[in-house]
Amino acid sequence: MLTIVEKFGGTSVGSVERIKAVAEHIAKKRALGERIVVVVSAMSGETNRLIALAHDLSESPSPREMDVLISTGEQVTIALLAMALHEYGVKAKSYTGSQVSIRTDNVYSKARIVDIDGQRIVDDLNDDTVVVVAGFQGSNEKGEITTLGRGGSDTTAVALAAAIKADECRIYTDVDGIYTTDPRVVPEARRLDRITAEEMLEMASLGAKVLQTRSVEFANKYKVPLRVLSSFEDGPGTLIHYDQEGDPMEAPLISGIASQRDEAKLTIRRIPDQPGVAHKVLGPVSAAHINVDVIIQNASEKGFTDLTFTVPRPDFKACKKILEQLVIDLGAQDIRTDEEIAKVSIVGVGMRSHTGVAHLMFQTLAENDINILMISTSEIKVSVIISEEQHDLAVQSLHRAFELHKF
Ligand code: ADP
Ligand code: ASP
Ligand code: MG
Repeated sequence: MLTIVEKFGGTSVGSVERIKAVAEHIAKKRALGERIVVVVSAMSGETNRLIALAHDLSESPSPREMDVLISTGEQVTIALLAMALHEYGVKAKSYTGSQVSIRTDNVYSKARIVDIDGQRIVDDLNDDTVVVVAGFQGSNEKGEITTLGRGGSDTTAVALAAAIKADECRIYTDVDGIYTTDPRVVPEARRLDRITAEEMLEMASLGAKVLQTRSVEFANKYKVPLRVLSSFEDGPGTLIHYDQEGDPMEAPLISGIASQRDEAKLTIRRIPDQPGVAHKVLGPVSAAHINVDVIIQNASEKGFTDLTFTVPRPDFKACKKILEQLVIDLGAQDIRTDEEIAKVSIVGVGMRSHTGVAHLMFQTLAENDINILMISTSEIKVSVIISEEQHDLAVQSLHRAFELHKF
């Protein structure tokens, strides 16, 4: 008998009607003999609502209490879905992350899963019960509730699939698969039948929020068969696969475009240039668990240098505070910031064997009067930082230029 982990995101469980539809879908799968673990998100909008409530009360709410608060969204959905399944005559039990031993580290709001004991789940499955698990949450070694970062229910699902060695993990969402780029930005984007885990990892980490990055890391590490599908209509979806592609010369120039709007840029100016400058600036930033993304250190001029880097916009305020202190400690001149930037990236294993890819990107942006603020490259991606205003134009024109709308 197949054991499957199925995950339903916020929109897919956004109302009682949607929850009933999910229950009906699972009842059918049960009838086919599949053993099912369901992971659910909070009903759509709920996590944002809870975050807003906290910020109405406090400018910097306690991270511990924040996780206690925002983990409740998922707890509502698991109970409602279990009840809905009972209505369909399906044996089902709901569990919070902590109850099924999803152990994480101590980093509130972006905790990483360190261990899962799948025994309780396996026992229930053996007892013919559908196991409904709250996504996005776990608990640390002290038993305190932690959450896994926005979009973290994807990671719960894939990590559970790895822990219980499920035959497949299916991520049901509001689009019918992974597209060449966000179909909400480019209506002519094309659904991909397959994508390599390597490319999906880049797409996710560069902002394609259809899968949380950590979920693809888990999938890749444990080779979890992973598929993204629509919860609204039947279809093949997109398979994330681990095969090495055939002839690299036949690979398309690029496979997709990913983008991220909510970034911010900070520059610390005229820092005395000595060995260890980057370490002194970025050390305290990383100690605050802020993910630094693109970094540029200018050529040193008369013993001084500038360091510019980008961070997720939600971390901007905390990062600015750290830099303000560093200006004093390091004797730098001042800081400059820009909160309205976006990152647009082209991704594809085809870049390994084709030249001129970056050039076509820069040419396309130039033709559309889009100013590049920063550039960063790796083996299979090129990213540019641009003004947020020009985000849609950049993605749309690049999608055309690389002919991603064509089969
Ligand atoms: P869920 O609530 O089900 O987790 P998300 O909103 O987190 O759903 O992710 C699905 C959304 O991801 C889609 O509605 C789409 O706008 C966006 N998205 C971004 N990039 C892509 C892409 N390359 N392919 C498909 N969807 C994408
Ligand atoms: N509810 C959480 C969020 O909105 C987790 C998730 O949906 O995956 O980010
Ligand atoms: Mg999501």
